[in-house]
Amino acid sequence: MNLTVVGTGYVGLVTGACFAEMGNTVYCVDVDGEKIARLKQGIIPIYEPGLERIVQSNFKEGRLRFTTSLAEAMADSNVYFIAVGTPPGEDGSADLRYVLGVADEIGRHLGDYAVVVNKSTVPVGTADKVRQAIEDQLAQRGVAHPFDVVSNPEFLKEGAAVDDFMRPDRIIIGSDSERAGEVMRLLYADFSRNHDKIMVMGVRDAEMTKYTANAMLATKISFMNEIANLCDKLGVDVEKVRLGIGSDSRIGYSFIYPGCGYGGSCFPKDVSALIHMAEQNQLFPLVLQSVHQRNMFQKLLMGEKITTRFGQDLSGKTFALWGLAFKPGTDDLREAPSIVLMHQLIGCGAKVQAYDPIAMDAARRELPRAWFENGSLTLAEHQYDALKGADALALVTEWKPFRHPDFGAMKRLMKSPIIFDGRNQYDPTRMETEGFEYFGIGRGKKL
Ligand code: NAD
Repeated sequence: MNLTVVGTGYVGLVTGACFAEMGNTVYCVDVDGEKIARLKQGIIPIYEPGLERIVQSNFKEGRLRFTTSLAEAMADSNVYFIAVGTPPGEDGSADLRYVLGVADEIGRHLGDYAVVVNKSTVPVGTADKVRQAIEDQLAQRGVAHPFDVVSNPEFLKEGAAVDDFMRPDRIIIGSDSERAGEVMRLLYADFSRNHDKIMVMGVRDAEMTKYTANAMLATKISFMNEIANLCDKLGVDVEKVRLGIGSDSRIGYSFIYPGCGYGGSCFPKDVSALIHMAEQNQLFPLVLQSVHQRNMFQKLLMGEKITTRFGQDLSGKTFALWGLAFKPGTDDLREAPSIVLMHQLIGCGAKVQAYDPIAMDAARRELPRAWFENGSLTLAEHQYDALKGADALALVTEWKPFRHPDFGAMKRLMKSPIIFDGRNQYDPTRMETEGFEYFGIGRGKKL
């Protein structure tokens, strides 16, 4: 099949490359001309394991094509995926300007029958808005081409995006049209050979499924974070509690790790958007509000632990920070807890020496320039360099190389052997034996 994917971010580029890998011809379209130019040179704008290889090989084979012209792509394809950003608006609602901008453009160039697929995470009812936007353009042109709008939310995880796309748990297709449903089934059959993973449902059901999945995962995290904070007060080790409850098959072990809050471009914005949807429908979303608020507070927790230990004035103090990305396996800094912590530490006068295995370029690009210029933030070449002369280490992202560090070397490098572990990577008893003052999340230590 010949496809167009609009937006070459984490979702769009992975979608395009994976469909091309299955033999389809895919046009990847982006308004960012520089990104497209770099992609044509084989330079991948994001870090995602396995992505570079399939982008480069499919580009070489001519199955993956990059362009800034949606009209050019549409002329040679009849399935158009919309995979642009849906960032939070000021009131927490999903900002649909990019999605509807693409819909307008599709309407301006639509010819033969086409399936327009919403892959972006969008509020319930967006497919209708996309349909209307296209129809308005067709009406202006005085033509009436047939088309269908389908919802096909994406469930890939950053850091494992290619693998998730190639071997999905399920493929949700929201379609109110049999014809479009069949096109989508055919397209996704390659990813559903092991057993049928395709679930066809109504468009609105599919839109809601995506938000509900993300909100459920965020809820598990915030719930566990709240329990962890109580564990600290009660002298209980939350890690024991986690294992104790995870063994219940009704609960399970996944997504119940306590920590210093969730970040990323999805959970925070999707919970906010769902809150907004509820409020617009005269419901007060008690659970979702609490999930969101717990997370805001949780992101502040590491900084609060540090100021409780060192005092509010941190001038003259230096903190090593391990992990900048919002989670391991990605270079994505959006909504990362590390950024909240750096604001707190630098705001109290401290210096930060940060290290991340992958997100250093993103940090140089995206963090406040002033922090680099006034020496508040330096990026270390190596994880151990970040520790030099540090009053304490704050571990924020659970990258694998942080799991079994050389504690002896760490102690020699640091000014004082103190660790604030935002991801409970270390065992408090072992840390004590190694001679560290150790603060985890919910490990039963009152401050
Ligand atoms: P992103 O910000 O990484 O990429 C969006 C891309 O769209 C950018 O390259 C931007 O230049 C481009 N774009 C914007 N307007 C355009 C236009 N009019 N024409 C062409 N290109 C345009 O976004 P993302 O992280 O890939 O997310 C895209 C959507 O998928 C969002 O709705 C998000 O919620 C959802 N989603 C994201 C993930 C994830 O892990 N990142 C997972 C599932 C779903």
